[in-house]
Amino acid sequence: MIVIFLGPPGAGKGTQAKHIVERYGIPQLSTGDMLRAAVKAETAIGLKAKAVMDAGNLVSDEIVAAIVEERIEAEDCAEGFLLDGFPRTVRQAEMLGGILAKKGREIDVVIELQVDEGALIERLRTRIQETKARGETPRADDNEETFAKRLGVYRDETAPLIPFYADQGKLRSIDGMAPVKTVSSEIEAILDPISTTK
Ligand code: ADP
Repeated sequence: MIVIFLGPPGAGKGTQAKHIVERYGIPQLSTGDMLRAAVKAETAIGLKAKAVMDAGNLVSDEIVAAIVEERIEAEDCAEGFLLDGFPRTVRQAEMLGGILAKKGREIDVVIELQVDEGALIERLRTRIQETKARGETPRADDNEETFAKRLGVYRDETAPLIPFYADQGKLRSIDGMAPVKTVSSEIEAILDPISTTK
């Protein structure tokens, strides 16, 4: 089962991803997490990506596509995986289609979490406060200025994936403003039937 999560920063993809990982036993592939790990490990990619990420811009399509292509070769992706934060541009979506086709695989479904932008900035403020309350340092790109930039990038670069996947008949949109449990149930209603046929 190959699932893509689509939605603006702060839509709740990470929260729901955890639930999917537990329920269906497929790994979550977050390009944001993978890039942050590369930054931390100071790999060649990490060194290149850091400034771009801190500014709220997108890392190059080639870099993220290569990271994903390598990751999905791993044993734990044999039964499927959840993509979170990738693809983020139409070009990445086309590259992903090519990568999967080479392996004789295809996307089952794209789940879009719909949220209104006003609520996102509130969620961000809460997330920053909670992080600080735990004595941790918020992510370098989790501040209001960079967040606004990330939202703009989402609108311009990533939102075009909505009609892109709708045209392929793969898009399912759900209300990301509903309580966490409600959102999880709606996701189950989409994924349960797919997982039983796999
Ligand atoms: P968000 O919380 O905004 O969904 P992520 O953790 O997914 O953020 O990603 C953080 C940053 O990592 C992005 O702003 C971008 O710089 C980089 N990044 C993550 N995924 C991609 C991608 N598919 N293409 C380009 N850049 C990416």
